[in-house]
Amino acid sequence: MLKNLYAGLSNVGKVRTSNEDSLGLFPDQNLFLVADGMGGHAAGEVASRLAVDTVQHTFVSPPEDTAPAQPGERLRKAIEVANLKIYEMGKKKAELAGMGTTIVSAHLSEDTAYIGHVGDSRAYLIRLSEISQITKDHSLVNEYLKRGMMGPDEVDTHPLKHVLSRALGTAPHVEVDILPLPLQPGDILLLCSDGLTNTVPAQTIFKTIQQHEGSLDKACQALIDEANAKGGIDNITVVIVQCLNNKRGPG
Ligand code: CA
Repeated sequence: MLKNLYAGLSNVGKVRTSNEDSLGLFPDQNLFLVADGMGGHAAGEVASRLAVDTVQHTFVSPPEDTAPAQPGERLRKAIEVANLKIYEMGKKKAELAGMGTTIVSAHLSEDTAYIGHVGDSRAYLIRLSEISQITKDHSLVNEYLKRGMMGPDEVDTHPLKHVLSRALGTAPHVEVDILPLPLQPGDILLLCSDGLTNTVPAQTIFKTIQQHEGSLDKACQALIDEANAKGGIDNITVVIVQCLNNKRGPG
């Protein structure tokens, strides 16, 4: 069983007046979440908070008739339940109409991380001297790319770059990607909203985390500082989980 260290931080950035991102750190369940809400006024905030709270709650106590035993499926179910809840609340209250959110989640079970996601909030794995992006953004441009309607060099500059092809809360059903990731001791997982990745390149993220090895709190702050130094045009949220080998430890 791997024991984990973790930290998380969210920041409004330098331009926006409210923070529509939410994060959840639930070490008792080895569950870590980042959500990036969207919608007018306070709706984005409501959507991302509801996503984090509902995923955690449903993960702990799944609906009895459908409780999946497998950890990845349990996570999928929790995200599906959150989707429906956000969708229904958006229907009920006029001021919340059309709200939605991304979600990226990591559940660590035994020696595997189950990454569950919808939207363009990302998970990265840092292993030894490499950083790799685990999730593929559910964005319109990635759909275009998949269908050969545009080239890879156009992705970063396309005017529709921020349009999502999937989000939580916009329809009663959502397709959730669950990615099982075998872990090694020392692996670092980063979950983050696009407020980080739109301005800070992966190699800078990697170097920043490396420079603050030993303090995940400081690493989170340093990543937020990097994004704010690049203008802080969006809310920024980061969660870092480091996997430690506790197999022979005292527990
Ligand atoms: Ca964002």
